[in-house]
Amino acid sequence: MSCKDIIRREMIEKRKMLDLKNGEDFVKNIRNTSCYKNAKTVMLYMPIKGEADVTGLLSDDKVFLTPVTEGEDMSACLVGDVTEGAFGVMEPIEKEAFDKDKIDLVIVPGVAFDKAFNRMGFGKGYYDRFLKDMRAIKIGVCHLFQIVDHIPCEKHDVKMDMIVTERDVWTRESI
Ligand code: ADP
Ligand code: MG
Repeated sequence: MSCKDIIRREMIEKRKMLDLKNGEDFVKNIRNTSCYKNAKTVMLYMPIKGEADVTGLLSDDKVFLTPVTEGEDMSACLVGDVTEGAFGVMEPIEKEAFDKDKIDLVIVPGVAFDKAFNRMGFGKGYYDRFLKDMRAIKIGVCHLFQIVDHIPCEKHDVKMDMIVTERDVWTRESI
């Protein structure tokens, strides 16, 4: 098992043990960022397996998109009415792919992040492929315990511009 796999497994196990009903602190921290305030079109994820719940944002006055996966591909569709899709993730019933270039901000889930803005996902690379070459600002969201010292990264891994936990907002100087 690689070093990446060991961190991934430990974090997924830890997170499953949490009883997470409420993502209010995450929502509040995201709402306070200028990149969220300025964004018109925002992509967010529907939480599974103890991921921070940021769906409270959906009451804001913005265009909201959420991922739909098909095979190895991921696209962004308007949220609308949702139903359970691949991997047990809620996804829109109406699946019309939205133009990726029009997305201002992507709120990205992760199994772990480090303070160099590296991200680790479930190990399937969906977000790495989706975010590649996108102009959107990328906010990684996770619980504080999911921040690790160092994530071993590969060339295809896409870095975040910002990381939000229930306590903190870390921003790369580039924004
Ligand atoms: P995760 O980001 O979900 O933690 P990894 O970064 O380990 O997962 O990526 C899993 C796999 O996804 C990689 O081994 C690679 O084969 C594939 N992958 C990721 N990004 C790309 C890409 N841009 N182009 C082609 N394959 C990719
Ligand atoms: Mg990756």
